[in-house]
Amino acid sequence: MTDRLELKAYGKINLGLDVVRKREDGYHEVRMIMQTVGLHDRIVMERQKESGIRTETNLPYVPDGEGNLAYRAARLLADEFDIDEGVRIIIRKRIPVAAGMAGGSTDAAAVLVGMNRLFSLGLSRRELMNRGVKLGADVPYCILRGTALSEGIGEILSELNPAPQCHVVLAKPQVSVSTKTVYGKLRVSELRPEQHPDIDGMVEAIREGSLEGVTARLGNVLETVTIPDHPEIGTIKEILMDQGAEGALMSGSGPTVFGLFKDMEAAERAVEVLKQADGGRLTRQVYLTRFFNKKTAR
Ligand code: ATP
Repeated sequence: MTDRLELKAYGKINLGLDVVRKREDGYHEVRMIMQTVGLHDRIVMERQKESGIRTETNLPYVPDGEGNLAYRAARLLADEFDIDEGVRIIIRKRIPVAAGMAGGSTDAAAVLVGMNRLFSLGLSRRELMNRGVKLGADVPYCILRGTALSEGIGEILSELNPAPQCHVVLAKPQVSVSTKTVYGKLRVSELRPEQHPDIDGMVEAIREGSLEGVTARLGNVLETVTIPDHPEIGTIKEILMDQGAEGALMSGSGPTVFGLFKDMEAAERAVEVLKQADGGRLTRQVYLTRFFNKKTAR
């Protein structure tokens, strides 16, 4: 049996995000095109003789212990399978935090996969996904990875062909936004029809392998809330388009913005421009990555 595992927990972006309606229970019904990107956190998991789950991260503002979704993922399986031994979880974060890239969910997904391996639990990917949804609506997708249509409150997943490959510039502005506040401010009934992205058209474009079809349909209804509140999100989009992006959009509830490029040199230039914009004050983190379509190995 292995005593130590090294895992990569990949971030996601939304190529499309539509909110269909607010349900009676307060949850929003969504239709989202999810895409994993190469940017990842690194997680080390070690079996310990003494019982208990311990988490450590490299960032002071990410909680340790119960507040960390990775801790809750380990707890879930340790309780279900009466695991007496302990586990130490060391998380090295690179994915921007509270930024619309499912950073916490992907760490939790990786820890579920890690527990399954470390303690030989024998759970299938589907069985891990069914447990993951108890931790958060995006966790099953983070186990699945790749290109997918996500519906319901995010837990109903349909796998799609891998989206056509391109260079992805990710830029997180200095501001932080809370997912709860953004959804709370959204008035679905007041949205005009043209403010809803064409999710079905994007599914078709992906099926056809058309990057142009994808970039022509990039859309996120949550921008109607975040851009008026945080104009820097709009500014980053403009810079990405000026630098030659095929399209640019905010991911999830933001504030991370991504730009899709065919040309790598243009993407590299965009990274430099964004890093230096407003004397270095516009952005907090800027990365260049690609779509990531490898499935999780169990
Ligand atoms: P989503 O895209 O799913 O809305 P997000 O990227 O906006 O997620 P996260 O990075 O998951 O947001 O962080 C949201 C909050 O969750 C943070 O403020 C942080 O305190 C908490 N959190 C708990 N566990 C983690 C973790 N492992 N990594 C990052 N944040 C975590």
